[in-house]
Amino acid sequence: MTMVPAIDIAIVGGGVAGTSLAIVLQRAGLSTAVIEREATFRDRVRGEACHPWGVQELHDLGLTPFINEIGGLELPNWTRYRDREVELEFAWSDAFPGAYPEIGFSHPALQEALWQGAADAGAQIYRPATATISHEYGAWTLQIHHAERDLGLKARFLVAADGKTSATRRVWNSRGITDPVHHWFGGMLAQGIDLPQDSSHQGYHDAGFSMLFPQGNDSWRVYYVGPDDPTQRFSGPERVQTFLAACEPCFPEGAFTSATVKGPLAFFPNAHVSASRIAGEMAVAIGDAAGAPDPSQGHGMSLLWRDVRVLRDLLLTEEWGSVPAIFAMKRREYETILRTHAAWVAPLTTETSPEAFALQSQVELAREDDPTALGYTAIFALGPDSQPTDDDARSRFFGEHKTENPVRIVTPLDKIVETVHDCHN
Ligand SMILES: Cc1cc2nc3c(=O)[nH]c(=O)nc-3n(C[C@H](O)[C@H](O)[C@H](O)COP(=O)(O)OP(=O)(O)OC[C@H]3O[C@@H](n4cnc5c(N)ncnc54)[C@H](O)[C@@H]3O)c2cc1C
Repeated sequence: MTMVPAIDIAIVGGGVAGTSLAIVLQRAGLSTAVIEREATFRDRVRGEACHPWGVQELHDLGLTPFINEIGGLELPNWTRYRDREVELEFAWSDAFPGAYPEIGFSHPALQEALWQGAADAGAQIYRPATATISHEYGAWTLQIHHAERDLGLKARFLVAADGKTSATRRVWNSRGITDPVHHWFGGMLAQGIDLPQDSSHQGYHDAGFSMLFPQGNDSWRVYYVGPDDPTQRFSGPERVQTFLAACEPCFPEGAFTSATVKGPLAFFPNAHVSASRIAGEMAVAIGDAAGAPDPSQGHGMSLLWRDVRVLRDLLLTEEWGSVPAIFAMKRREYETILRTHAAWVAPLTTETSPEAFALQSQVELAREDDPTALGYTAIFALGPDSQPTDDDARSRFFGEHKTENPVRIVTPLDKIVETVHDCHN
């Protein structure tokens, strides 16, 4: 087997997480290789709107030019609808002066631009390729199955960036733990939607909501969150029309009159997936491989860029043997805030029972005392930043102290029976 030059860090997975990391590490003087399974990047219905806190992370990493290069569209406003009428028009800069706007973009175009960026920065890149990984004599050995021949590669440090169902993290006996699914999340690329393109749009239906994120060139990522089992309702030759028809009533009359399909439709269980172990010996997982957040909250891209920044900074300042444990601890902290918030808001945004309506009223009372909701109202603009997640915080978030007989709805977090471990092997 031909050996290629040894490197500092091997990254398995050439998604946005893996290539972003390769670029910033190369720029910092470390050598990397990225191994990607797919020959070309296609529309997998993935994150195409990044919240302001993720745009800040992107900026801090010096990666904003990649979004600009693919024509990413700034979305300075958020418009919310009820019964087809505008309920709220919100400018990020009014509520959070200095915060970046949200950005809409094509995910596969960004993957392609970052892949090229990693090559330009000097990373060894292999696609389509997979790797067989072993750890011997204090180094990682990767047998790269690339094109028609195998190559051998040695690296000091291993990063799993191969997504929610990561096979790489199994090398250190880590696996995904899925929180209880509380809804289904469907997405499709459409065109011809007649609404302002300087805003994200969110409208409610009886048992959930729909969201629209423009990304320029009359491309719109359309999302639908609902309880319906998609294999029943959204099946057969009319499934795309059924999907558009399900979203249409959430928005003003006429907005969907000329809407047509532009990409595949896919549905996903709406649940947070944690990695049982984020780190192994001289190895960590980042992005969805480290824990994929509930897609309905749209934090995945922001979270992966936070991972990239935190890991880069640790690799540049700490002794590498201690990096996995420190990274896992920090990652678990900010991930837990996102996971907790997503679980808490699930019954507020997607349940229609009398208890859910009573809970919503109780929460409104709590907001009179604390409009910041313990800092959680800033989570989309400023990110997870020390918001409390304990029982007392939960009680205050839901306004349980405001009434003698508080309403309490079991959230996905209450049903979790498995715990996650961060000790590494
Ligand atoms: C329906 C949906 C909507 C979403 N919407 C949003 C949103 O609006 N905003 C937002 O911020 N986030 C959103 N997300 C989340 C976001 O898409 C993810 O968090 C993000 O794509 C994770 O990137 P990643 O690089 O970690 O993983 P991935 O994008 O999964 O990339 C992993 C890469 O690894 C490769 N790979 C896998 N296995 C191997 C292997 N064995 N060997 C080599 N390569 C391998 C894959 O081909 C892929 O290229 C959404 C997610 C879903 C499912």
